[in-house]
Amino acid sequence: MSRFWSPIVQKLEPYTPGEQPKHQTFIKLNTNENPWGPSPRALEAIAAATGDALRLYPDPSASDLRAGIASSLQLTSDHIFAGNGSDEVLAHAFHAFFSGKEPILFPEITYAFYPTYCKLYSIEYQLAPLDSDFCINPSDFSGACGGVVIANPNAPTGLAMPLENIEAILKANPDVVVLVDEAYIDFGGQSAVQLVPDYDNLLVVQTFSKSRSLAGMRVGFAVGQPHLIEGLHRVKDSFNSYPLDRLSLAGALAAWEDTEWFEKTRDQIVADREKLTENLQTLGFTVLPSSTNFIFASHAHVPAERIHADLREHGILVRYFKKERINDWLRISIGTTEECTALVKVLRTML
Ligand SMILES: *Cc1c(COP(=O)(O)O)cnc(C)c1O
Repeated sequence: MSRFWSPIVQKLEPYTPGEQPKHQTFIKLNTNENPWGPSPRALEAIAAATGDALRLYPDPSASDLRAGIASSLQLTSDHIFAGNGSDEVLAHAFHAFFSGKEPILFPEITYAFYPTYCKLYSIEYQLAPLDSDFCINPSDFSGACGGVVIANPNAPTGLAMPLENIEAILKANPDVVVLVDEAYIDFGGQSAVQLVPDYDNLLVVQTFSKSRSLAGMRVGFAVGQPHLIEGLHRVKDSFNSYPLDRLSLAGALAAWEDTEWFEKTRDQIVADREKLTENLQTLGFTVLPSSTNFIFASHAHVPAERIHADLREHGILVRYFKKERINDWLRISIGTTEECTALVKVLRTML
């Protein structure tokens, strides 16, 4: 605490990201990074972008990247906003659309950054309870509110909601923005992007961090009708005109266009996820059906907090949330095939 902090800063509750160890080498299954690395074509494009041109500012409107994303989604560029990681895109969306008088709604268990943005931008919020099997109940999002945020698939549960349910929420909230965070959609579930032409209140946010293996580069984007995208540009151009640097713009576009690498690595992660799920079930874990690049698992007898600590001792990091309702669960990212095997081997000796 400092006497120089503004009242808002005094009340902030910053998000705590998963551990990024600097010295020790761990098998890192704690932050949902993609173990297979970025597309080689993205790396080439990044290398080609390092040169004298770095003395020049990048394209402030990310036109080539937005056009590339738009054309494969059968939309035009004015339906796409690009930002410095989807976290920044989400923050701008909260700022642009949720400062109304009514509280916004999101599930009680979801991405922990949402309440953080609410505090930062003084947005009131209410939590919708999940049902007993951690599913989101669409009817909880039908009352008056200032907006809705749904992560689909949800984090950290990994559960996907059918598109009809998203559509029901859109229909129940025609006068506020419904923000659908699709950070994990490429690993399962149906994207709401196809609903964009039909709903003027829908904003879908995706990221290059997970399925495109570019977490270190910080690129995310939003898809919505042009009036929403323009709102995001108004916020961005009042904050930082150049959120994406030249390397990110070049690397992200090449990664987007390399569908072969994308599909190959995604399919491998999905196959390893199914195998890991079976192996953990054999070891006495309950595993929620995952549509993501991680699984959410709870053991019948051994507390999650202890498994988390013991795995760390064995050089394996997984994510544990000391939070009501999920404090006996572990979120485990899908690593390489070898890393998944190593995890099962250690768990087998531990349990
Ligand atoms: C990882 C994640 C993000 C953030 O992704 P970045 O693009 O790396 O900022 C957003 N939402 C959810 C639910 C995530 O898990």
